[in-house]
Amino acid sequence: MRMRTYLVRLNLDIKEKNIQNALRFKAASLSIKALSRPNNKVVVLAHRGRPTKFDKPLSLRPFASLLSKSTGKKVVFIDRVAGAKKKIDGARGGSVFLLENLRFEKGERENSEKFARTLAALGDEYIMNDFATSHRSSPSTTGITKYIPSRNGEIVRNEIEALEKATKKPARPLVLIIGGAKIKDKAGTIKRLLPKTSHVLLGGGVGNTFLAASGIDVKKSLYEKEMVKSAKSLLRSRKIVYPVDFAVKGNAILDIGPETIKRYAKIIKSARTIIWAGPMGKFEDKEFRNGNDEIGKAVLRNKKAKIIIGGVDTLSSLPVRIKSQKQGNILFSTGGSAMLQFLAGKKMPAIEAAKKAKRKMTR
Ligand code: ADP
Ligand code: MG
Repeated sequence: MRMRTYLVRLNLDIKEKNIQNALRFKAASLSIKALSRPNNKVVVLAHRGRPTKFDKPLSLRPFASLLSKSTGKKVVFIDRVAGAKKKIDGARGGSVFLLENLRFEKGERENSEKFARTLAALGDEYIMNDFATSHRSSPSTTGITKYIPSRNGEIVRNEIEALEKATKKPARPLVLIIGGAKIKDKAGTIKRLLPKTSHVLLGGGVGNTFLAASGIDVKKSLYEKEMVKSAKSLLRSRKIVYPVDFAVKGNAILDIGPETIKRYAKIIKSARTIIWAGPMGKFEDKEFRNGNDEIGKAVLRNKKAKIIIGGVDTLSSLPVRIKSQKQGNILFSTGGSAMLQFLAGKKMPAIEAAKKAKRKMTR
């Protein structure tokens, strides 16, 4: 059988101090293990952060040994795309390579078609397995699919399947829990899912924005002024539930209070589908993590619901050890913004591109 080289887009955009504990790292390791065989080669394409040039703290170099350890396969680091083809072509079957942070390459940052062709020339087949980056177009996520057979990998398919099930025909009641700092795409998600939702439970900075919309002076709290207007229009729905009491310090609302926890927990208990994005408070502060802990416990206690939890901070705020993407009745999403964009009904360019390419190539 002919030797094949797989180019697999994975997410190694990890901020956690303990890299091996990150869901994204675990998912990437599993993906490499599942793909690598003695009669093929695997080349990992990934990025970290948003560098505008080489930036050592964002190098993927340390990931080569970490991935070697976690996969039990030798992962060879390649520090530049120029010259990579020779190294890959000359390697033996079973080899695994990790390319340096692709955003160090001008071609990737500037969306160069030529760079997409250069990447495509490194292998025989492209696998899009980076859900968290699938809402963006770039040579390594969309451009490449024009030049070699391409498909979406298991991580991406798991996420889409769970998100589609939870939004198209959800087991009801469907309860949304929305918190955190970023409101971008959260309002879109709420709007789109509202008809199927029984309750939207709000907390964090997003909750503060709705409190402001309800006429409360949130003073120094984290919230988004520009969003108050659209929050006001959403507040007309009785499904929107915002905090009734909070923990405050220095004129800022930093956590939800006991009465809010009680109300939310009761709604969470009866849910049959739960989608959660964004922590309920400033959980990194011991003083203000109680609300998020209690909501986390209430969610994890519900074994009857299909549960999706996404967002880097949301996952790290949970009182549970995350071993893999799917865990019992829960899917942990590797995507933050990507998940919200998908839920808001927006196009996912990289997922579409890989799907389209597959049809074209197999015809
Ligand atoms: P995710 O990474 O899961 O997508 P976000 O990045 O949107 O979530 O939000 C996480 C951040 O929001 C955390 O750093 C948390 O401290 C902050 N946060 C949540 N609630 C508050 C609050 N009431 N005041 C200040 N910061 C908050
Ligand atoms: Mg975050």
